[in-house]
Amino acid sequence: MLITNANLITWGQPNQILEQHALYYEGDRIVELGPEATLRAKYTQTDILDAREQYVMPGNICAHTHFYGAFARGMAIPGAPPKDFPDILERLWWKLDKALTLDDVRHSALVCLIDAVKHGTTTLIDHHASPNAIDGSLDVIAEAVTQAGLRAALCYEVTDRDGPEKARAGIAENMRFIKKCAGQDGALAATFGLHASLSLSDETLAACRAAHSGGFHVHIAEHEADEYDSLQRSGMRVVDRLQHFGLLNPQTIAAHCVHIDQREAELLKEAGSWVTHQPRSNMNNAVGAAAVEGLLRLGIKVCLGNDGFSNAMWEEWKAAYLYHKAATRDPRRMGGYTVTEMAITNNAALAGGFFPTAPLGVLAPGAYADLIFVEYHPITPLTAGNLPWHILFGFEPSMVTTTIASGKVLMKDRRLLFLDEAAITARSRELAQQVWQRFME
Ligand SMILES: [Zn+2]
Repeated sequence: MLITNANLITWGQPNQILEQHALYYEGDRIVELGPEATLRAKYTQTDILDAREQYVMPGNICAHTHFYGAFARGMAIPGAPPKDFPDILERLWWKLDKALTLDDVRHSALVCLIDAVKHGTTTLIDHHASPNAIDGSLDVIAEAVTQAGLRAALCYEVTDRDGPEKARAGIAENMRFIKKCAGQDGALAATFGLHASLSLSDETLAACRAAHSGGFHVHIAEHEADEYDSLQRSGMRVVDRLQHFGLLNPQTIAAHCVHIDQREAELLKEAGSWVTHQPRSNMNNAVGAAAVEGLLRLGIKVCLGNDGFSNAMWEEWKAAYLYHKAATRDPRRMGGYTVTEMAITNNAALAGGFFPTAPLGVLAPGAYADLIFVEYHPITPLTAGNLPWHILFGFEPSMVTTTIASGKVLMKDRRLLFLDEAAITARSRELAQQVWQRFME
């Protein structure tokens, strides 16, 4: 496929904006970028996709999400509004996830994946929970991801909150799916999910480590309750406790880390683990602002996730940019390059660990052909240097008109080619109604 008439944003090192260029890809890999005339003369026997002067850039990557949360949209929680994050967990998430069947899991994933295709997110790292439909739940999500044509790394969140049998089932589901993905060179990958220290016993943490020696994907210190719970259980803070059980390594993803202390940050750094930042979620749950600039300065690879908010990553960029300024009352904090470091550089590196065969998140020969077209007409000069601020103040998710993943065109001129949005959302509304009824019971 030859994409012509494009303004390429490479997100390489250094980032380049190549105007009036073309991009040629074969199968799922980019072969060449170059001036339009050169590539047109070279690749004469190929399909042509006219970008009509749109910006063509790598698809966005989401470092931490929850497809299973989709049916919470518009749902009422009975009684007084939850007063803090532990209250939100108990009265919303730990009731919603119990109400999910495998069919709900499939449709929760599908509606999120439609959102991702429409808004230019081509790689997602999901963290799943459905305590009454554990076995096979990751297969159901994997089928939805494959149907959508996107790229995802999946895991099941092990927890003790529903008893030891379900904790064991969660471990088994992770291990089954990890084995299934091993050695595959496709668009699916696996890691091992843990809910959070506050819902995990010592026995279960030891069992998880005994079962698996690779990376874990775990919520850490999202609220201070996680730290106080860990201190009470073990005399250790959360990161120390997880390290004690051998769960921190260069493949481990630590979501949030809002309330970790300096020593915990050092432990994460020493382990080479990743941290993900989800500013919209942190604001919504009123858990505080993670000290991500300090973590980055320490050398920790902080990435950007959405924690189940819309799969429109530029919305998360904007939240990050604004949140830290508001939280610190300092307009110099969280500049555009810092947001880019998380959302582009670090997210690509994290995703690359799951899909190591070719580079992700960059337009370069040999990289995966995961691309989006953005219909943006800058009202001021746009350069590689000021691009982050054009994204922060100008880009909108609805400007994504075409989405390609693994070389397959999933959306063209805002038309979805593989997913029937009307039919899927009609079914998801029916299923959500039933989930809400079970939630209220
Ligand atoms: Zn989360």
